[in-house]
Amino acid sequence: MDVLFVSAEVAPFSKAGGLGDVAGALPRALAARGHRVVVFTPRHGAVDPGQHRLEPLPFPIEAGGEKAGLWVVRGEAPVFFLEHERWFGHRRGIYSDPGHEYGDNAQRFAFFTRAALALPGLIGFAPRIVHLHDWHTALGAWLLRHEAEALPWAGAARSLFTVHNLAHQGVFPKELLPAVGLPWSAFRYQALEFHDRLNFLKGGLSCADALTTVSPTYAREILGPEAGEGLDETLRHRARDLTGILNGIDTREWDPEHDRWLAARFSRRRLAGKARCKAALQEELGLPVRPEAPLVAMVGRLVDQKGVDIVLAALPELLGLEVQLAVLGTGRPDYERALEHQAALRPDRIRVRTRFDEGLAHRMEAGADLFLMPSRFEPCGLNQMYSLRYGTVPVVREVGGLADTVEDYDGKSRGTGFRFREYGPRPLLTALRRALDVFRDRAAWRGLQQRGMAQDNSWEASAARYESLYEQVLERPPHLPLAAAGEG
Ligand code: ADP
Repeated sequence: MDVLFVSAEVAPFSKAGGLGDVAGALPRALAARGHRVVVFTPRHGAVDPGQHRLEPLPFPIEAGGEKAGLWVVRGEAPVFFLEHERWFGHRRGIYSDPGHEYGDNAQRFAFFTRAALALPGLIGFAPRIVHLHDWHTALGAWLLRHEAEALPWAGAARSLFTVHNLAHQGVFPKELLPAVGLPWSAFRYQALEFHDRLNFLKGGLSCADALTTVSPTYAREILGPEAGEGLDETLRHRARDLTGILNGIDTREWDPEHDRWLAARFSRRRLAGKARCKAALQEELGLPVRPEAPLVAMVGRLVDQKGVDIVLAALPELLGLEVQLAVLGTGRPDYERALEHQAALRPDRIRVRTRFDEGLAHRMEAGADLFLMPSRFEPCGLNQMYSLRYGTVPVVREVGGLADTVEDYDGKSRGTGFRFREYGPRPLLTALRRALDVFRDRAAWRGLQQRGMAQDNSWEASAARYESLYEQVLERPPHLPLAAAGEG
């Protein structure tokens, strides 16, 4: 199958979160199954052509009346980069600079998405599947049906839209419609209109031929008002076309036996290296090097979604549990400050690093005993899967992908972590206490670690699911939301 994969971030070139990881790994996993996958992404300012061996292409790409440059990194799944200085090259960030969102994201990503559909014609490719990701590329579902007269391949193609996080919708004033090159006919409830505003994500949910999200539990949760972020009705309307497919992890990048970032390597059978990683991490962070002190790690965006507020509320009691806590993340300035303040009060117990640091993320996954992920909601979550693979026992809230990947310890011989249900500091502390009791029982702890390390969260199984979904959607007629609404 020929697949065009369109994403605003693609690791290792650019990454703000899980989307980048997925867009980096899934195309390769599909290519390994024999599909031809072409990836398209912007060349953000931080993408260094030298470091990543980007090759410039001698022809420009044209979209919405503007010309732009193209670069490529060849490989099993080639990645094409859109070069546009004003929209992407001159920006330091992907969506924002520290503290403020770019004011022209609607125009930037509309341009990018149009360019994505222009790419196949330029490189002699005829995708049957256009796989779009998150609000940034959601317009592609509309464009494929309404702006594709000049694209000979488009009639036979189907769009698949994957929601990595329903909380980010790309909502803009409707007056921007002409600036993103859309007709007013797109601005209706069956397409891009939502509460009299332009909602890119809703356009994808309404217009794509098939929808997926990144875990089965999240796929169920978003059909209800609690997790539906206002779009649950739209989603219920399309429930038959919505599938939850769990993300995999990149097992080459995240492999404790070969991880280049670590002080020592280890595996399920040879765990000794993990103790060395723990000591090295304690040293790196300036924590007392104490093998017996349970080291709890947290890595991720410090935003409401991730449950930072309940961690802060639980801190006083958490310190009473004699644990060390290491946090790596960036996000809401007040969360960053509150955590740093706590670390300044108890430098022997809490260390906080507020930056993006890939290497430290690996060292924390490897060196910690426990990994905390008390998310308010979690579409899939990757860190708990990295933790499992690194023998770092996850303590998670029972939501979304966390519920699908971490099995609660039964006190005997089943389970890979500790889960709690209600959102709040108390339930979190209860789960953590349960975990610490088991931590002191070395044999039981080792069993937990080894069961987690044996769990297969690689992309293979998930890529096979995408593949069969691609096949199914190609057998169906295109989804025509306006026709379904009797509007032509
Ligand atoms: P989300 O996509 O909601 O941010 P995920 O758990 O799915 O959460 O993926 C987050 C990814 O980003 C993981 O690979 C995680 O290690 C990485 N990450 C997040 N914050 C940082 C940081 N400050 N430094 C290094 N890696 C980070």
